[in-house]
Amino acid sequence: MAKVLRCKDLGMNCTKEIRAETEEEVLQLAAQHAEQDHGIHAASIPPSIQAMVRAAIKDE
Ligand SMILES: [Zn+2]
Repeated sequence: MAKVLRCKDLGMNCTKEIRAETEEEVLQLAAQHAEQDHGIHAASIPPSIQAMVRAAIKDE
């Protein structure tokens, strides 16, 4: 079963869907996407938001 994270579930005006086999991979790809497309550096994301991102990851 794949894991999916939809950027819009995080309140972003963005249709990107990030899919990977594991939650860790999704988080890694999400960090890349946030940096490349939203100019958000993963290192600057506070733990409360990281928890929100984790919670938004769904099984597909
Ligand atoms: Zn996005």
